Amino acid sequence: MSCGTVYLETMGCQMNVLDSELVLGRLRAQGYEPVSDMAAADVVLINTCSVRDHAEQKALSRLGTLKKPKQRNGQMIVGVIGCMAERDPDGIFARMPHVDLVCGPGELNKVPALIEEVRENRTRAIALSQSSSRKSTPLQRALEYDSVEALDLSRDPAPGHGVLQPYIRVQRGCDKFCTFCVVPFTRGAERSRPPSQIIDEAKMLADRGAREVTLLGQTVNSYVNQDNGRPVRFGELLAEVAEVPAIQRVRFVTSFPGDFTDDIFEAMRDLPKVCEYLHLPAQSGSDAVLERMRRQYTVSEYVDLIDRGRDYVPALTVASDFIVGFCGETEEDHEASVRLIERCLFKNIFVFKYSQRPGTVAARRGADTVSYEVKRRRNGELLARQERISAAANRKLIGTTVEVLVEGYSKAAAKAQEAEQSRGQEVSWRRSDQLVGRTRTDRIVVFPGKPGHIGRLAWVRITAATALTLHGTLVEESLEQDRVTVPAGISLPVLGSV
Ligand code: SF4
Repeated sequence: MSCGTVYLETMGCQMNVLDSELVLGRLRAQGYEPVSDMAAADVVLINTCSVRDHAEQKALSRLGTLKKPKQRNGQMIVGVIGCMAERDPDGIFARMPHVDLVCGPGELNKVPALIEEVRENRTRAIALSQSSSRKSTPLQRALEYDSVEALDLSRDPAPGHGVLQPYIRVQRGCDKFCTFCVVPFTRGAERSRPPSQIIDEAKMLADRGAREVTLLGQTVNSYVNQDNGRPVRFGELLAEVAEVPAIQRVRFVTSFPGDFTDDIFEAMRDLPKVCEYLHLPAQSGSDAVLERMRRQYTVSEYVDLIDRGRDYVPALTVASDFIVGFCGETEEDHEASVRLIERCLFKNIFVFKYSQRPGTVAARRGADTVSYEVKRRRNGELLARQERISAAANRKLIGTTVEVLVEGYSKAAAKAQEAEQSRGQEVSWRRSDQLVGRTRTDRIVVFPGKPGHIGRLAWVRITAATALTLHGTLVEESLEQDRVTVPAGISLPVLGSV
């Protein structure tokens, strides 16, 4: 029976992407039909992020565009879910009175019931949990956890819908309380899922077509759970997931440098399915700033960790995050971040201009002292430095052959084609020819191929490179086997130092 149509838009991190998939799955199972036209949907949900002020402003702006459609269709239900809903429900209702429901990330299991509540009673429906859970009793916390765990356990992906490279949540919440971060307040305390549930989920996803899984946690390497009274840590979990036969690649994000132990490097070295890629946020190259951020490691410990990782896994690539303009960051601190980027030769970095988040320690200290203009300049300087490093590293790959998992058609190629056509240029290739794949080290590769190649592992010979993308040609014979092996006469890349 159809319950109507639902439009769900996702902002923020991979955790939100997974949450949205699970919420949509629940609604689909109840008879809702997902649609892509927001203004015409019966139910509109925005899954929000609170990590930066900019993300919240974007969510408010999207919600603002729903005022008129809601005036036209009084039956439309507008919901805000995710971190912003948990952080500031009153602010949302005050600024967006047409919002009908808010639901925090720990209560997403209840979204279908909340929609029904609004529909039947025409009242607002609210479900929040994590902000109070740190004060609640162990029993209350266990019940809350069971409720949110039910969402993961209900996972039932629609065939052909994102099943090639799914995320699997292995951990919720965070206990680190970095002074700038709102996540411990919106997603609550760190809790790891039982290994048996994770393995069952991996097997189910493999049966539905998954070939690569990414294990998700806010500090994923801190994972620990009990299996028959015995602690299972993250390195062991990687080994268990890698045993699922149809899964050909295993990734994990995001790692917390302070908790990283060598057994994880050993797992990366010894398990052929575990990809040689780490997302390891540094946040700053200055010890003084790291201390004010309460990151629990020093710059030299961070560098040592990456050096050790490259000793264990020579092909390792590392992506990092930086915050520019954190409270009191000086030019010397900023230069230290530039030096760290040059020292570590990251594959890529994500740079964020610091914005004060209500409720955090940094906000309570009230020391957002660096001007927006300075933050913007520093942001550009870090990215420019990294771009040169990435371009040089990618150029070294020209002439080598890399393994890719073919993900689909290249959106960038489609956009480039449209731009060329709009300039009246002759286009020598067709959009449908251009496929995109990802290397084990998380590099994007664009190459001509056929639709039948999508979802398969293949080897691509690299012929050109930019800072962001590799271009190449498919080694056709690599597609003749289920699990690709290196065709004879192919030169493999040495990635460790690039
Ligand atoms: S480790 Fe720090 S930055 Fe990451 S989610 Fe936890 S508190 Fe936030």
